[in-house]
Amino acid sequence: MNGLMVIKIGGGEGIELEPILHEVAELVHAGQRVVLVHGGSHETNELAAQLGHAPRWITSPSGHTSRRTDRRTLEIFEMVYCGKVNKGIVETLRARAVDAVGLSGIDGGIWLGERKNAIRSIEDGRTVIIRDDLTGAVKSVDRSFLSLILDAGRTPVLTPPAVTSDGVAINVDADRAAARTAAALNADELLLLSNVPGVLADPNDRSTLIRSTHGAGLQRIREAATGRMKNKVLAAEEAIDGGVRRAVIGSANGQNAIARARQGAGTVFEGAFA
Ligand code: ADP
Repeated sequence: MNGLMVIKIGGGEGIELEPILHEVAELVHAGQRVVLVHGGSHETNELAAQLGHAPRWITSPSGHTSRRTDRRTLEIFEMVYCGKVNKGIVETLRARAVDAVGLSGIDGGIWLGERKNAIRSIEDGRTVIIRDDLTGAVKSVDRSFLSLILDAGRTPVLTPPAVTSDGVAINVDADRAAARTAAALNADELLLLSNVPGVLADPNDRSTLIRSTHGAGLQRIREAATGRMKNKVLAAEEAIDGGVRRAVIGSANGQNAIARARQGAGTVFEGAFA
């Protein structure tokens, strides 16, 4: 154990970054090693609409949703993720005396991924094959480069895209990239913080939080998680399988969101639950 935390802050609507970055700064000042990963989906949707390239979504036959990423979408995605959101977070952290280093997964090839050649998408009840999509998944993480930054007392702030071995930028799910990163760095904890309190049995009712993965809980969680929540559950499971001690899907909002997630407020995944 090396006392490393990977914290992924979602990019959904209504997430307040200030309080959570304040908490990150306090943790770093207290000597905690942190890798921050962030999204930017809501702002990307807004900018895409403003630029006349409205967002579109792909729903796989198993119910996973992902952003339809053509070249223009990737460019807009980079403007928001690598530009506005990443630099905004670095600026906020630096103003709080954290030596933050903002990087996307393509920089230095930190997140090496594989592009999906053919994606099956359900459109109007029919299966369609999409071949020109720039999406994929992270397959390996440059552990030594990230360790170099951490060992220098700096705090990496990472965001998609990732890059393929032949140098193509790909949109990857930030939750799963964070899980890969946590596993690669032997992190103790992975916190996936977003605009919901965790996995809800009824996504429309915040009082139906499923807290634990023990026993029958995991199956219940897998079934309850629809749409974008599916990726978070997969990410938490992948982190645990990769040796991370604890993964929590929790809320990014309010005071002390990180402390609350660490204390178990949210959906907690722990140890061998297979
Ligand atoms: P972020 O972009 O902040 O990482 P996402 O928007 O990708 O977060 O994922 C969170 C969303 O998942 C919620 O806002 C909610 O709409 C959706 N969701 C689907 N099923 C569930 C569920 N069972 N519990 C909670 N949220 C769910």
